[in-house]
Amino acid sequence: MSTQQGAPLITARDLTKSYGRTGALRGASVELGAGEILAVTGASGSGKSTLLHCMAGIVAPDEGAVAYGRRRVDQLSESDRTLLRRTDFGVVFQFGQLIPELTALDNVALPLLLAGTARGEARERADAWLERFGVRGQAELRSGEMSGGQAQRVALARALVTEPKAVFADEPTGALDSLAGEQVMTALVHTAREAGTAVLLVTHDAQTAAYADREVELRDGIVVESPQVAARAAVEASHEG
Ligand code: ADP
Ligand code: MG
Repeated sequence: MSTQQGAPLITARDLTKSYGRTGALRGASVELGAGEILAVTGASGSGKSTLLHCMAGIVAPDEGAVAYGRRRVDQLSESDRTLLRRTDFGVVFQFGQLIPELTALDNVALPLLLAGTARGEARERADAWLERFGVRGQAELRSGEMSGGQAQRVALARALVTEPKAVFADEPTGALDSLAGEQVMTALVHTAREAGTAVLLVTHDAQTAAYADREVELRDGIVVESPQVAARAAVEASHEG
């Protein structure tokens, strides 16, 4: 089944970002459609995480634009970007990054509490999301007491509990064995589809990318749209100099 190509939810245009003399992004453009699951692949150091950080409003690009509806994410103040992430976006990293002192349930309830939801309701909703990710049995455990796959599913529940428009997942299976990785991806794709949440899925793993509706590749900070485009770029590069 092909997904409907609706209006773009987030558009990144000609992003550049340098760290010292390293050009992490060198004119990267990509669109994330509403409800679309888009894989961003590429070699280590090709700029995947930097692109995700720019699109999620975690860092501002040096140049270029990130549009989310009428908002220019790249032009928001740091505090407005934080607010936007709290309400509209969810983020998952390679190592779940749960708060180790909190139980799974309290980790998942936290974004709701920050958004002003009453404690009882926050815990109820967190409980329901743990259930959806198959980790309700781990509700009272801390991250050190869970397997990597369980902790990552708790992290996904935390990213989705506020019912964001987009989830940004940076190598969400990168630290897992292939079975746990499959469980995490199945849970993510299933719940994102159900909720109509768009997912920007950064991965260097083809098996993980295969869960996406569409795939783009980053090469040296530039998005290469398709295998055909990649082949053409390679031919052009071979004719240079
Ligand atoms: P990927 O996620 O594809 O591995 P990154 O976006 O993390 O790529 O990094 C792209 C390039 O930018 C790399 O050369 C990396 O070393 C550099 N880089 C990324 N983040 C930083 C940073 N905070 N400070 C310095 N260099 C960075
Ligand atoms: Mg990375």
